[in-house]
Amino acid sequence: MSKTERTYQLCTRCVMDTTAPEITFDVDGICNFCKDFDELAKKTIWRPLDVRLKELESGIQKIKQLGKNSKYDCLVGLSGGVDSSYICYWAKQAGLRPLVVHFDNGWNSELAVQNINNIIAKTGFDLYTYVINWEEFKDLQLAYIKASVLDIEVPTDQLIYATLHRIARKYKIKSIINGNNISSEGILPRSWYYDDKLDIVNLTNIHKQFGTTKLNNFPKLGLTRQLINAKLHAMYSISPLNLLDYDKNKAKEVLIKEFGWRDYGGKHYESIFTRFYQGYILPRKFHVDKRRAHLASLVASHSISRAEALTELEKPTYDAQLQKEDYTYAIKKFGISAEEFESYMQKAPVPHAHYGTQWDKKEFRKYYIFKRVVGPMLTLISKLKGN
Ligand SMILES: [Zn+2]
Repeated sequence: MSKTERTYQLCTRCVMDTTAPEITFDVDGICNFCKDFDELAKKTIWRPLDVRLKELESGIQKIKQLGKNSKYDCLVGLSGGVDSSYICYWAKQAGLRPLVVHFDNGWNSELAVQNINNIIAKTGFDLYTYVINWEEFKDLQLAYIKASVLDIEVPTDQLIYATLHRIARKYKIKSIINGNNISSEGILPRSWYYDDKLDIVNLTNIHKQFGTTKLNNFPKLGLTRQLINAKLHAMYSISPLNLLDYDKNKAKEVLIKEFGWRDYGGKHYESIFTRFYQGYILPRKFHVDKRRAHLASLVASHSISRAEALTELEKPTYDAQLQKEDYTYAIKKFGISAEEFESYMQKAPVPHAHYGTQWDKKEFRKYYIFKRVVGPMLTLISKLKGN
């Protein structure tokens, strides 16, 4: 039986189903994602609270120690969403001195801007807003849409990663606070995103084939640069949300009280593009509803009940009127007609690997030689620097 002919099945414990083609079930109908989640949670968020808090405290001390001679002791990425906003609140409580970095990729909702401004005003932290070159970035995002690949967020993710490293080097910042949150993100099928987010070869090839301008300002972070970063500029990182007893709803209450923060009505919906991508493009073209993975994570972490998650999934991905507005806004911002956009929506999905990856023989050989020749030298330099 081919994947497309597979009989529909829903996990009896979480809410993952056969829309994730890699899902498997045991005799009781419990899925592999539930089991993987349990394994991960046992090693992380389900350890006793005192053990986690001790780890967090030593993390805070290490950050302060590493950053004692710098203006900032850590980097915090702030989108304005619940998790990253809460990280700012936590960093203030922990007595850290972060440089807060926000990425403006042109799709910020007005509400996100307001929330960010309120957080900065209240915490007194310095804000570094990285504004992308819109014409280039538009061309890149549009190339991904035309290429019919699933993960159109790769350009943003790659930009964020590369830029954070650049900013860290510029300000000599040695630590980064990660907003990663297992209880709400622990389940995500590999087929629902491109799992090699930093694949610059894939990005460059897609842009070469479908783009129309040159990418002069996009920070290119290939395997060799990643190796240099890892050896010479490795950053210390902690994920406080996995160490605290983090509850999203309680976090929202704190944010509302402390910062006058306002909700967006969906995970990652602080960005208009992400809202449109996850709420419209992904379900319509790729038959992926990312809310399912998010809600499955919340069920697996006992944050909500399975019944609550199923009720949530019966609702549309987001408000129909707002969806219409986003559609009009998006095609206008991309400078294309509805007909043109529809023609891309009608195209069959194409796997990312179709455009070549950084692990393809020719590309990888270059990196392999670099790693063999330069790698030991970098290790030596790193040791001499006392890293
Ligand atoms: Zn499950």
